[in-house]
Amino acid sequence: MKCVNSTPNGMNQAQQLELFTADPDPIDPTPAAPPQTPKEPLATTTIATPCPPDLPAGSRWREVRTADQAIGFVLRRSRRKSIGLVVSDDGLQITAPGWVSLSQIDATIVEKSRWILKKLRIQQARREQLAMADTHWQDGGTIPYLGKRIVIRLGVASDGWLFEGAPFTPGDGDVLRLPLPHDADRLRVRDSAHAWLQRKATDWFGLRLAHFQGLSQLQPKRWRLSSATTRWGSCNSDGNIMLNWRLIHFNSAIIDYVIVHEIAHLKEMNHSKDFWREVERILPGFGPARDALRQYDPTTLPLI
Ligand SMILES: [Zn+2]
Repeated sequence: MKCVNSTPNGMNQAQQLELFTADPDPIDPTPAAPPQTPKEPLATTTIATPCPPDLPAGSRWREVRTADQAIGFVLRRSRRKSIGLVVSDDGLQITAPGWVSLSQIDATIVEKSRWILKKLRIQQARREQLAMADTHWQDGGTIPYLGKRIVIRLGVASDGWLFEGAPFTPGDGDVLRLPLPHDADRLRVRDSAHAWLQRKATDWFGLRLAHFQGLSQLQPKRWRLSSATTRWGSCNSDGNIMLNWRLIHFNSAIIDYVIVHEIAHLKEMNHSKDFWREVERILPGFGPARDALRQYDPTTLPLI
């Protein structure tokens, strides 16, 4: 039996909406209801929907005005029997049967504009996150460490890392000096920073495990760091605990919650009421930390 402390996989890379899934009826182009209706209000900022430099063969670029903003999209005709809407990193793509007129396609986009803009916004956030991840790995780049943002500096004449701050109570802007030349490429910078973060994870998780073992009188057989991309921690029935080293990016309350969650499994190998009572006994008031962790998806963390 195995506990896995994880969240569901993140958003799909492409968000897809199928319309006209019934037999085509060119006289009544009213599309079916979308599978989900956005409830939250739209942000006021507009999303850029630029024409891609290379349009796929057989497709054309088109723009339609909606109440919120103009939406550009790639239109492709096909033999399919329905209009397909796909939002991906390349923007909005519409696939429509030949019998549907351009004005019918435009009307569909206007009607589905809130769904489309919501998906475009998600894609934009994803791209921004990727771009930001890339800027970490250079002199002056920042990385999250124990809930703070620390700054990477290169060009240090040293044979080891130098952290100019309290190692386990860091502050925003504290400097981590890596033993690399100024012109080190991003991969080397990333690997060096990861190695330091993993050392800190080993030290900090070890300290916190010892602390909570004392509190709970529960003893794992052994523990080690994991590099899992889909889970934060796990505990198996042999009493072995694994903790994702990337937890070191988070503040210590979140790390404590994951550690206590796994320690509680040494007594209750399930997620029953007794289990949560055990978590509460060891770490009273853990709710906010658990809720905060739920906002993060382990699959996004390899980026940082
Ligand atoms: Zn669990």
